[in-house]
Amino acid sequence: MSETNKYMMVGERLCLDFINTISWRESEDKRRDWFTSYDKLVDWSLHAGIVEEKQAHLLLKKSVLNPSESEQTLRQAIQLREAIYRIFCSFTKKELINPEDLTNFNKVMRHYYQLMQLVPMENDYSLQFDISEGAFDSMLPPIVQSAVDILTSEQDLGRVKHCEGDPCGWLFFDTSRNRSRRWCSMADCGNRAKARRFYQNKK
Ligand SMILES: [Zn+2]
Repeated sequence: MSETNKYMMVGERLCLDFINTISWRESEDKRRDWFTSYDKLVDWSLHAGIVEEKQAHLLLKKSVLNPSESEQTLRQAIQLREAIYRIFCSFTKKELINPEDLTNFNKVMRHYYQLMQLVPMENDYSLQFDISEGAFDSMLPPIVQSAVDILTSEQDLGRVKHCEGDPCGWLFFDTSRNRSRRWCSMADCGNRAKARRFYQNKK
């Protein structure tokens, strides 16, 4: 999958869009990770709506002052992303889950779930993470939550699919009524497959 617009968001769920931050994930030579720096992670998070504009500026400013700390958060984010990717893949490919990935994910989840608190809303309460907006990793808890939401619902998990475009490797949440979606994007992988079929038929 290519990075056509600024950031393509076709996963339909936050954690899947997070996974899809590598173009051509399953290609050896075309593979390109979008998170080449902490700044890119912040920029993507802003685009994804999990970091606010003011907060993004604060994080970028802090990152200049603490490059090693922000670098470490970037590594954490990538580790989390790859663990979530492999966990979902074990479902889409019907393979056994790697216990190490589950252990690592659980560790991250426990760390953030400690920060959960009930916040009074108008008519009820909402569960929110009590994390400072200046924390380098403040974009990660909602991503973890998004993955937990899918993983704990058999119905939702059944809608997570792997794009059939090879070597795209992107995942998406199939919201179609008859679960017929096959491509991350019809405009990219879908069209390529159509073109391939066209030429094969001509041969
Ligand atoms: Zn694709």
